[in-house]
Amino acid sequence: MSLGLKYKNDEKIIEERIVNGVPYLVYPMLEQTGVVKHGFTTRLGGVSKGYCATMNISTTRGDDPRDVEENKRRLAEAIGVRPEDMTFTHQTHTVNVAVVEEEDRGKRFMETDGMVTNVPGICLVTFYADCVPLYLVDPVRKVIGLSHSGWRGTVNRMGRVTLEKMHEVYGTDPGDVVAAIGPSICQDCYEVSEDVILEFQKDFRKEDWDDLYYRKENGKYQLNLWRANEIIFQEAGVKKEHIAVTNVCTHCNPEILFSHRTTGDKRGNLSALLALK
Ligand SMILES: [Zn+2]
Repeated sequence: MSLGLKYKNDEKIIEERIVNGVPYLVYPMLEQTGVVKHGFTTRLGGVSKGYCATMNISTTRGDDPRDVEENKRRLAEAIGVRPEDMTFTHQTHTVNVAVVEEEDRGKRFMETDGMVTNVPGICLVTFYADCVPLYLVDPVRKVIGLSHSGWRGTVNRMGRVTLEKMHEVYGTDPGDVVAAIGPSICQDCYEVSEDVILEFQKDFRKEDWDDLYYRKENGKYQLNLWRANEIIFQEAGVKKEHIAVTNVCTHCNPEILFSHRTTGDKRGNLSALLALK
């Protein structure tokens, strides 16, 4: 059964999966590493009501905590992890990356937008509604990272900061890493003002600017966060053929995915999940 998601192209970057009535998205390239379980949720398959309907496991959206618990239980079962192993960020558009150790199982890291770990079973969980999820898997040293990268995280190079943390703490070589840029807002949907573009011009080489944005007659710009994060990964040493770039946009799929640009604050959160087997 298809979820009816709209894709930006025909490439088989992302697979839809439905387990026990819970749909989620997976990246075959991450699965093929053989060392992780992972997924990206949709709005479907949960019990939340109203604007959080139905699959929301974030406690910061005003959702009923009992519904959140039931959703966590369903989602954990579908992906094959334990709810008590889910470890969370409380994201504030920083580039703070937490090192998650055995005793942090189930914890929530405040003012943190990324996590890395080498502990099997711990399930890293981060939250989204248009911002960019970054999945990182080092199958050689068996290390993972999961980070939230909105436009602020992107100009501050969250992808590189996460890789550097994996290198510093666990000895990860970026050349071994398989990365995925997760479902988030596409360039066609992402209008920004000039002040944002000025930040990108400071941080990216001039030859990349045409790839990153174009100016419109109304004086606004359309920004490509997917390409920006791909450039960041490549410059940090991840091989191009090891990077899976999403072709699913949150804003293009309002019935199936939460999107801040569609609904503002009246929404649940999508979640990215990544665990070492
Ligand atoms: Zn879109």
